[in-house]
Amino acid sequence: MPVYLDANATEPLRPQARDAMIAALELPGNPSSIHADGRAARRLLEEGRRRVAERLDARPQDLVFTSGATEANALAILGLGRGRRILAGGTEHPSVLRAAPGIGILPVQGDGRIALDALERALREGGAALVCLMAANNETGVLHPIDAALRLCRQHGALLHVDAVQAVGRIALTMAEMGADSLAISAHKLGGPKGAGALLLRPGLDLAAMLPGGGQERGRRGGTEAVPAIAGFAAAMAAYDLSAAARLRALRDRIEQECGTDVIGADAPRLPNTTCLLLRGVPAETQVIALDLAGFRVSAGSACSSGKVGPSPALLAMGLGADAACAIRVSLPWNASDEDVDRFIPAYRAMRDRLRASRSA
Ligand code: PMP
Repeated sequence: MPVYLDANATEPLRPQARDAMIAALELPGNPSSIHADGRAARRLLEEGRRRVAERLDARPQDLVFTSGATEANALAILGLGRGRRILAGGTEHPSVLRAAPGIGILPVQGDGRIALDALERALREGGAALVCLMAANNETGVLHPIDAALRLCRQHGALLHVDAVQAVGRIALTMAEMGADSLAISAHKLGGPKGAGALLLRPGLDLAAMLPGGGQERGRRGGTEAVPAIAGFAAAMAAYDLSAAARLRALRDRIEQECGTDVIGADAPRLPNTTCLLLRGVPAETQVIALDLAGFRVSAGSACSSGKVGPSPALLAMGLGADAACAIRVSLPWNASDEDVDRFIPAYRAMRDRLRASRSA
C-alpha cells in the first residue's frame, strides 16, 4: 500500500464529508428556487454556512462560499484591495501573488517569517494598503506572527487579509480571535472535497463581487452554490479534531530526528504536520520521483507548481539560493499512522544515501 504524505496538497477525504456529499447529491433543487425543492437545498446551504462560520467563530452572514481558496484570495484582493496598495509576503501562495498586477512584495526572514520592520516601513510609506499574509506556509509550515502584523496594520490604517488554508484544522484559529479583516479557507485542505472554499469577512466589512452573476451570496459572489461540495465542506469542518495535533507533531518530529538531514524553517513556529527536508545537491523532483517509486507520496515545492522544473519561489524568498531546488515537503494527513512513519524513515534514508552516492560518483 502506498503511503500518502502530501496532506498540504490535499487532505484525504473524511468519511463524514463523503457521506454528507452523497446525501446532498440526492437533493434536486437550486437554492435560489422558491419552491419546496429549492428551499430544501437552501436549508442545506445555510446549515453549511452556519457550521463553517461557527467553527471559526464568525457570523454566517459574513461568509462567502467560493470555489476554493484561489478564488477566495482573489475575491479579497480585488474586492478589498480596490484603491489600496496591495502588499504580500514573499512566501505567499501564487493565488495571492498573481491575483492582481503590481503587488508589492514584503521580505521574509531566513526562518520564513515576515520581516516586521520591513512591513512597518512599507506601511509608513503612505497610501492605504491591503496586506496579505498566510497564517501558515504550505511548503514549510512556518507560521507568520499574525498578531504583530495586525497591530502594525491597524496603526497605519491598513487592512489585513489572511490566507488560512493550511492552518485551519491543524492549529487553533478563529476569525474573532485573530481579528483580521478577511480570511480564506479551502475545503480540500481539511478533509472536505476539492472545489469549495470560503472567504470570511470581519463583521461590517463588505466587498464588491468579482463575479456579480445572479446576486448569490448576498451579491458578493454570483453563481449557483455548489451545495453538495459545501455540505462536505461543512461536515469536514465539524469533524476535524485539534487534539490530533500532538500525535502528528510527534510523528513529524520523529521524521526530522531520524531522517538525518537539514530541516527548512526549523527555527520558527510551525504547523505540527509539516516538514521541509533539504538534501543538498539533489533536485527535489529526483527525490520525489524516487520516493514515489518506493511508494511514498511527497511533494516538491507547492502542488500548484509541481511539474514545473526549478527552485521553489517561496524557498528562494527565504534566501536559500541553490538549496531552494533541493527540498521536499512531507506533510502528514489527518489519518497518518505510526506505521506510515516507520516505513518512511528507512525509505528516505535509503533514497538519500543512493542519490548522494550517485551524485559523487
Ligand atoms: N493558499 C495556500 C496556502 C494553498 O496551499 C493553496 C493550495 N495549494 C491555496 C491557497 C489554493 O487553494 P485552492 O486549491 O482551494 O484553490
